[in-house]
Amino acid sequence: MRSNSTNAPHDTAVPDARREKGIIPFSWAFLVITSALVLSACNRQQPLAPPEVQYGQSECADCGMIVSDQRYAAGLILETAQGERVPRVFDDIGCMVKYEQHQKDGKVLAHYVKDYQTNQWLAVEQAVLVHRQQIQSPMGYGLAAAGSREDAQKLAAGDANALTDFATLLRDDKPKAANADAAASTPQ
Ligand SMILES: [Zn+2]
Repeated sequence: MRSNSTNAPHDTAVPDARREKGIIPFSWAFLVITSALVLSACNRQQPLAPPEVQYGQSECADCGMIVSDQRYAAGLILETAQGERVPRVFDDIGCMVKYEQHQKDGKVLAHYVKDYQTNQWLAVEQAVLVHRQQIQSPMGYGLAAAGSREDAQKLAAGDANALTDFATLLRDDKPKAANADAAASTPQ
């Protein structure tokens, strides 16, 4: 019985050849599909998607700190002058505000923030931001994001003045105001 497997090269040669023939059209199909995908990628950009963050490894594009707490993480997709799409990640929503106010790297195509509770990415336009001194975000900006107004109100502990949005923060020259005001009013 054992000899069947060792001295049967002539028997297997034919099926191998057939299999090889079968592979050739498959490879062609694969090549054609791959080429089509590459061409379409050149002609049309991929849809925008939140950036990849390696928590504990990725560096904040503004302050350089390691992004480790995803509850406060933020990110954006930048288009350079050469038309290249580049992701930027941040450890604090306030860092993204500050970066955006000063960056000259390109045009920002999309901003994302993490839902504080679910850790899911939200397009910043869909998020309700909460700006409160009590929110201990990594760089002390006191910012966190919620996916709904109800969740934001819970996060704000009923303080309606704490609810804000990204456009408002961008207009604000001092995104650190939540903490800076407190520090200024109580010099130690
Ligand atoms: Zn930062």
